[in-house]
Amino acid sequence: MPPTINLCWLRRDLRLLDHAALYHALKSAAPVVPVFVFDTNILNDLEDKHDRRVTFIHDTLEDLQVKLSKLGSTLDIYYGTPQQAFEHWTTQYDVQEVFTNIDYEPYAVKRDADIAKQLKEKNIGFHQYKDQVIFDRNEILKDNGQPYTVFTPYSKKWKTLLNDYSLQAYPTENYFRNFFKQKIKKVPSLRAIGFMAGDRGFPSVRIKDSVIKNYDKTRDLPGIEGTTHIGLHLRFGTISIRELAGRANELNETFLGELIWRDFFQMIIWHFPHVVQHSFRREYDNIQWRNNEHEFQQWCDGQTGYPIVDAGMRELNTTGFMHNRVRMITASFLTKHLLIDWRWGEAYFAKKLLDYDLAANNGNWQWAAGSGCDAAPYFRVFNPTLQTQRFDPSFEYIKKWVPEFQELTYVKPMVVHEQARKRVLEVYKAALAS
Ligand SMILES: Cc1cc2nc3c(=O)[nH]c(=O)nc-3n(C[C@H](O)[C@H](O)[C@H](O)COP(=O)(O)OP(=O)(O)OC[C@H]3O[C@@H](n4cnc5c(N)ncnc54)[C@H](O)[C@@H]3O)c2cc1C
Repeated sequence: MPPTINLCWLRRDLRLLDHAALYHALKSAAPVVPVFVFDTNILNDLEDKHDRRVTFIHDTLEDLQVKLSKLGSTLDIYYGTPQQAFEHWTTQYDVQEVFTNIDYEPYAVKRDADIAKQLKEKNIGFHQYKDQVIFDRNEILKDNGQPYTVFTPYSKKWKTLLNDYSLQAYPTENYFRNFFKQKIKKVPSLRAIGFMAGDRGFPSVRIKDSVIKNYDKTRDLPGIEGTTHIGLHLRFGTISIRELAGRANELNETFLGELIWRDFFQMIIWHFPHVVQHSFRREYDNIQWRNNEHEFQQWCDGQTGYPIVDAGMRELNTTGFMHNRVRMITASFLTKHLLIDWRWGEAYFAKKLLDYDLAANNGNWQWAAGSGCDAAPYFRVFNPTLQTQRFDPSFEYIKKWVPEFQELTYVKPMVVHEQARKRVLEVYKAALAS
């Protein structure tokens, strides 16, 4: 007879502490087996077989496995589709209930609905919990019951609703005895799932208080270490958002504001899933993009002749990270100066960013292109030279990534700012008038 257990399905919440679904699972009637799917629907789309995010997930699972083995338990990992995984687990175990945290992306929403149906046919319950954001879906609504599409009033309401309860940790550690005890199962090797190890220089999960305290003064300066680099850990849940928001709430309101942006875009993608393919404001789908492939390549390679843009793209290509201010400048340059569809830039960032997150990436790209909710007005075209004067006045950042920027060997600017500005204003105006 297979053992009677409950499953806790980990996805973008790869930790054991302060974990909503795990807490509820461990408090339930049956012992808990934590499970993870190396989902071929996702992995097969990753072109780079050294993708560092897969290495990060893999390392994190190994780490969880060590922790679980000390508790006499194990992670059970399946390589395949989630459907196949649950077929497998429901024969291995007598599964009573499945516990998991809510994922707001359209692929995940459909996946989870399908799995819930598959389980229901076997009389197995499927329970989902809010975990990766402070407030989700319909928790912050306008007085008329509609979702916010403008950030400032959303964030005001978010702050008025924030209280100790919303930041309270789920004390999973009090229930660790309820993990199902069994022999350790091996984490499949990277090779077994079709990948190879990528560079492991991952940012630390530990953030110094001083970085958060000074955040409002340092966050816009790419030449210094003025932001946390915590995006990767938030993306895969190796840090709890409640813990981080609690520190932000105590130490720096501007930093808390960034975490609210994160909630905001998760709320937007849930209510307006069309943003994944289309402009949030549909009329922006009429823009006649130039989409010149050669120019796109110059942008990707950091060879535009605008040092701040090139520095950003080279930082991204080399490290998998780009400073937020420079993400805004490079995104504006692609969409406005080059008139290349924001979806091309979005897809490039999706391939390269260690902290890639569909909701945040999409929301910010649409912000830069002017097509999104609460977006920069389309006539606001960042001037890369002025941005450099303001945010990298002594060229610290540029010197690091584009050391040749003052040499004759450096590429000539691929467009003239004033001409490009005039061109984009005409094209946007025509699109919005049509
Ligand atoms: C074109 C473009 C694309 C972007 N793509 C992504 C992406 O794929 N994933 C991603 O997490 N962020 C994205 N951002 C937002 C922001 O640039 C990054 O979150 C930030 O630079 C990550 O560095 P950090 O961890 O040091 O952030 P910090 O400045 O230390 O901020 C802490 C955390 O707050 C959240 N945050 C900060 N700014 C934003 C924002 N504008 N929108 C949503 N969340 C935010 C992130 O989780 C971030 O890790 C993008 C911004 C732009 C302009």
